[in-house]
Amino acid sequence: MATIIDGKKLAAEVRGRAAERAANLMTQGVPCGLAVVLVGDDQGSATYVRAKLRDCEECGIPSQDFKLSEDTTQGELMSLIERLNADPSIAGILVQMPLPAHLDAEQVVAAIDPKKDVDGFHPENLGKLVRGLPGLRPCTPAGIMEMLDVYGIDPAGKNAVIVGRSSIVGKPMSLMLLARNATISVAHSHTDPCELARICQSADILVVACGIPKMVKGPWIKPGAAVIDVGMDRDEAGKLCGDVDFASAELVAGSITPVPGGVGPMTRAMLMSNVCLAAELQHPEAAKL
Ligand code: NDP
Repeated sequence: MATIIDGKKLAAEVRGRAAERAANLMTQGVPCGLAVVLVGDDQGSATYVRAKLRDCEECGIPSQDFKLSEDTTQGELMSLIERLNADPSIAGILVQMPLPAHLDAEQVVAAIDPKKDVDGFHPENLGKLVRGLPGLRPCTPAGIMEMLDVYGIDPAGKNAVIVGRSSIVGKPMSLMLLARNATISVAHSHTDPCELARICQSADILVVACGIPKMVKGPWIKPGAAVIDVGMDRDEAGKLCGDVDFASAELVAGSITPVPGGVGPMTRAMLMSNVCLAAELQHPEAAKL
């Protein structure tokens, strides 16, 4: 049976470290505020935002919550971003995605000051990732790297397969694993479906982020592999599940993240780390922990 990678426990540790870093910065007069912008009435997004605000409270990170109506214009949203960019009390800006369809998300992401881009989605930060330069990294793959490290799973020389190539998970994940000397394969919706199982079977580290409930089954997994399930899906019964069929996968994998309790909590915790990192980047003179 696989070792269960306990994302909840690790996330609590990451939040604890973020709390210490934030306290250290604020003692030195460095502001650590997080602005969270939510546009529209999507209940799922509102739930995520509430959770992020709770995390801030737990870490002692001051937060400001901006709830904008569904009919907010691009101009109004851009003005708010401009204001937050110029506000020295705000270290990090997070615009909850997805935005309502009439808004241009790419323009919004590009407008955020890269030093305040705690989601790590700004082209400058993604460019730094490609170049191997330090910077703010997207929270989900950053959290996965942390989990691998804590569980002693060294990517160097391993075959890593990433299923999914989104800009927020799959692509940055592949770059982070590549930077740690794994050999990378990235599968996506154009990958030959007859080949997908074979590709997954080649993985020592398998990261699945395709949004298809329980797509990856036990027989697709190399015995002993580390299986990281990013998916947040609903099964036929409406129950939360991942992109991996946990019941069959845990019989074959060496280690595996559960859903819930795996990647999700770590993603949230890494946001708190990123707020501290953003404050540090804006105040290089501050002493770091
Ligand atoms: P996207 O919808 O942006 O991307 C899905 C990716 O999967 C695409 O690259 C797509 O390929 C690929 N894909 C779709 N179908 C297949 C298939 N049959 N075989 C192989 N690849 C396929 O999703 P996200 O990356 O944003 O999220 C993926 C999952 O992770 C979702 O369940 C989401 O809810 C969850 N998630 C969880 C987070 C967490 O914190 N736990 C954070 C972010 C996401 P193509 O590019 O060709 O379309």
